[in-house]
Amino acid sequence: MDFSDLQQEMRAQLVAKELFAQAQSYAYDYIDNLAEMDVFPFAPALADLEMFEETLPAQPASPAQILGMLHQYGSKATVAQTGGKYFGFVNGSAVPVALAAKWLADVWDQNAALFVMSPITAKLEAICEKWLVQLFKLPPDTAAAFVGGSSLAGVYALAAARNELLNRQGWDVGEQGLFGAPPLKVVLGGDAHSSVFKALSLLGLGKSRVELVPVDAQGRMLAGKLPKLDSATLVIAQAGNVCGGAFDPLDEICDAANQARAWVHVDGAFGLWAAAAAKTSYLTKGMEKADSWSVDAHKTLNAPYDCGIVLCKERAALVNSMRAAGSYIQFSAERDAMSLTPEMSRRGRGVELWATLKYLGQAGVASLVEHLCSMAQYFAHQLAAQGFIILTDVVFNQIVVKCATPEATAAALEKIQASGKCWCGGAVWQNQLAIRVSVCSWQTDKEDIDDCVKIFAEARK
Ligand SMILES: *Cc1c(COP(=O)(O)O)cnc(C)c1O
Repeated sequence: MDFSDLQQEMRAQLVAKELFAQAQSYAYDYIDNLAEMDVFPFAPALADLEMFEETLPAQPASPAQILGMLHQYGSKATVAQTGGKYFGFVNGSAVPVALAAKWLADVWDQNAALFVMSPITAKLEAICEKWLVQLFKLPPDTAAAFVGGSSLAGVYALAAARNELLNRQGWDVGEQGLFGAPPLKVVLGGDAHSSVFKALSLLGLGKSRVELVPVDAQGRMLAGKLPKLDSATLVIAQAGNVCGGAFDPLDEICDAANQARAWVHVDGAFGLWAAAAAKTSYLTKGMEKADSWSVDAHKTLNAPYDCGIVLCKERAALVNSMRAAGSYIQFSAERDAMSLTPEMSRRGRGVELWATLKYLGQAGVASLVEHLCSMAQYFAHQLAAQGFIILTDVVFNQIVVKCATPEATAAALEKIQASGKCWCGGAVWQNQLAIRVSVCSWQTDKEDIDDCVKIFAEARK
């Protein structure tokens, strides 16, 4: 086919803007129907996903039909996690102005790799870096880089840690690789998140050589049980256990590690935000003494997906581990994002993070964090009143709950998930089958929780 026909057609689409109006009207439909939607799609909606099973189209298709298909079959096969009754995983909702900013930024379609590719995304990421360092009360020169999520943030932070620790021993990972490198000791809590183990295996540090520190009934590392640390040790602590939300004793861990010149990384995917609110900042006490941190903006902060952040006290350690050059790459005196992560081309995810932070401000972030925590407290209290057993202290936004027997817990979880009215996941908490509840949406209010507690109570009968 003659490309000039397609070119003409696409230019006409940009001029007419009907496609954007169509997408906008579907989006508004979705927003308006959200409260009535099943929180998780049921069989008919899932069966309709078959509509996407077709061979690669031989010829161009109608754009209006493409969007129509997405709305007709796609919208109802989504999980209604932007509403107030989704408590699965630790999935946040989205602050409206951030969504709108993302729409606008989608039209810009910027490549955030270098300042010369997009001055605005470089600027907004530089601003976000400053604001986050202030919110989390980290050392002033801490570097922040914007990545897909906390799993990747962890990989990048631990890459910087690995290279720096080996560098101190005269070994350059960038030049020499890992074969024959001096060994590093890796220390983490017995209840560390699975993404940490994945990161360690990706980085050639392996899972099985890790020294696991015993944890208490809340899943917190016992600082008194830390092994001997030295300057070739990487300690990975947790701010927010993915089940119960417990925080490792960061103050004690950092003091012990700093004394030994070990590197401390804090996995604070959702919990790091505790530092930004007066009522919860006791949980992260001492975390500013760590060397690196990973956190998500798409969880507690309710920025849209995908928005993970890696923070590193020694900017040079992060930059040195991400070295890349090419005669065509034009670095500038401004912020060049690709110097801080392995990614080169990517979308400007700092735009919606900036919009979220600018909208909420320091007071808004604090009240959002405190709201999620107080809703979790309320939820746990109501569940306990109904005879459910709460397995951990509710210190943040997470609840681990069970019924009298594992069979009853399994049956209740199945009924809750099948209700369509709310959604929670399951987990095994210290050898006990449990239901995990994560209050992570700005939308959730007491009414949502009252409705969900009724569903829980029904499900247990
Ligand atoms: C969610 C989570 C991760 C992984 O973050 P992603 O953004 O899903 O990659 C890591 N650690 C903890 C404690 C988490 O809750």
